[in-house]
Amino acid sequence: MTRETAKNEIKKLLTNYVNMITEKRSGDAYVCPLCKSGTHKKGTAAFHIKDGVFWKCFSCGENGDIFDLIGKIENISDFKDIMDRAIEMFGFTLDDNDHLSYKAEKASAHKPSNGNETSKAQETLVNYTEKFLQAQECLFDNTHGEGLEYLVKRGISAETAKKYGIGFIPAWRHPKVSQYVPQSPRIIVPLSKDSYFARDIRSGISSKTKQYEKQRVKGEKRHFFNESALYTSDSPIYVTEGEFSALSIIEAGGTAIALGSTSYADDFIKCVTEKPPVQPLIITMDNDDAGKKAVSKLSNGLVSLSVPFAVYNPMGDYKRSE
Ligand SMILES: [Zn+2]
Repeated sequence: MTRETAKNEIKKLLTNYVNMITEKRSGDAYVCPLCKSGTHKKGTAAFHIKDGVFWKCFSCGENGDIFDLIGKIENISDFKDIMDRAIEMFGFTLDDNDHLSYKAEKASAHKPSNGNETSKAQETLVNYTEKFLQAQECLFDNTHGEGLEYLVKRGISAETAKKYGIGFIPAWRHPKVSQYVPQSPRIIVPLSKDSYFARDIRSGISSKTKQYEKQRVKGEKRHFFNESALYTSDSPIYVTEGEFSALSIIEAGGTAIALGSTSYADDFIKCVTEKPPVQPLIITMDNDDAGKKAVSKLSNGLVSLSVPFAVYNPMGDYKRSE
């Protein structure tokens, strides 16, 4: 994303930011994070947001946009520094492709430049095994029933959840983003000891938040959900786009692995090039443009590797397999 795009995106995040740093009082008024109007017994909250991008406090008279507010709260005066802070805070990455992406995506894409030693060291450093165990405990903990409720609503039984080490984290945040990025309740699907998929379980969230509802914490190498089935299955293996689609097939008695994203089709071909699967594959992607492109990439790759496969589209004209 360009700096200009980032600037425009961040501008729209004023309400998110205000909700992070202060609390709402009656109507549309917030406690002023600068003069604290609204905290005294008599004082009325006088901090207002206008059109989602401007703010004004009628008590202290301060006003501006999100950058002015961040500057005042964090005591930064130079606009460039405020911008850098905002980009960090909301986890945006500036890149050449104009993509809105989390920092982590970039960070994990950068291979260590100084040889194998560093990469080995990092590999041994990141291990989420303990975290996965805690998340599994949490999924079945009565005080956090919403995680299991979400799974059941999506047709995934507790038994399947247990078998695949699925867990729940009530207040999750991507390990590589700033502490100011809001936390969210997530189903955790382990992919390998150093990577997992985290799915926001809330419904009715804003489109701004929704774009982050499916997030991945990447490890040293790309891993796919239930990847080991490629080498152990005794029946054909479904290859789905999303983890939940794979889980649904498993729930119905089949064997399935998930790519995680249509953009990982190349990685998947690399994976089966290194070690071919022991059973034929059944490719089933979402019936949208990205899904169709992935199907053609996978087909071409599998043909050239002489891996037996079939393409199956159970959705007909419906777009999504979930
Ligand atoms: Zn004020």
